[in-house]
Amino acid sequence: MLSDRLADTLNRLNNAATEAARPVPTLVAVSKFQPAQAVADLAAAGQRVFGENYVQEAQAKQAELNRPDLVWHLIGHLQSNKAALAAELFDWVQTVDRPKLVGALAQARQPERGPLNVLIQVNIDDEASKHGCAPQDIDALAAAITAQPALALRGLMAIPAPHEDPALRRAAFARMKQLFDTLAAQHAGVDTLSMGMSEDCALAVAEGATMVRVGTALFGPRPAKA
Ligand SMILES: *Cc1c(COP(=O)(O)O)cnc(C)c1O
Repeated sequence: MLSDRLADTLNRLNNAATEAARPVPTLVAVSKFQPAQAVADLAAAGQRVFGENYVQEAQAKQAELNRPDLVWHLIGHLQSNKAALAAELFDWVQTVDRPKLVGALAQARQPERGPLNVLIQVNIDDEASKHGCAPQDIDALAAAITAQPALALRGLMAIPAPHEDPALRRAAFARMKQLFDTLAAQHAGVDTLSMGMSEDCALAVAEGATMVRVGTALFGPRPAKA
């Protein structure tokens, strides 16, 4: 049952936060490749915040659901030519990793929707295959974002390498927490550190995640892409 999986996940996050004396994180339910009905079912169990990886998939699902009460996060790589549509559809974009996206998102955000919340994606394990900026590029990107009234800089996001060794995962999360604390000291409004997925969300919370992105543990295995 979806509602049982949701309760289990929230429990797991609560326990991890309590044990580590950290705040309870926001749960982003990752619904990529899941049908709109699965989102509706989880929403019926009380979940309001959802994450999608693909702009067009999110657009179709949002149209089908017609639920203005849901909060949508883009957590997948964003191509510049989809930035305008993303700025319309999403409440948060977690994958800002280059200056070109900043202007494109800001220009397209409709003022009546208020500022678009953005996270800077960091390639914390310096993987050639991963998107995200280098840690040393965070400052310049943060300055570009805060110069745009249509955008609200909220923090950092990362997808650490899937190390088998939990100590290595922990180390990547800890490096992210340091980068986050540095950024938060420089910019008012920075309050969000998005890291941790189904497998490692408790570990991420122990290291200071304020937001986790969980798919499989909530919805079960993902169907193949339609
Ligand atoms: C798919 C995805 C997740 C969720 O992964 P699970 O292992 O299913 O919890 C989280 N973050 C990002 C960026 C993803 O693409």
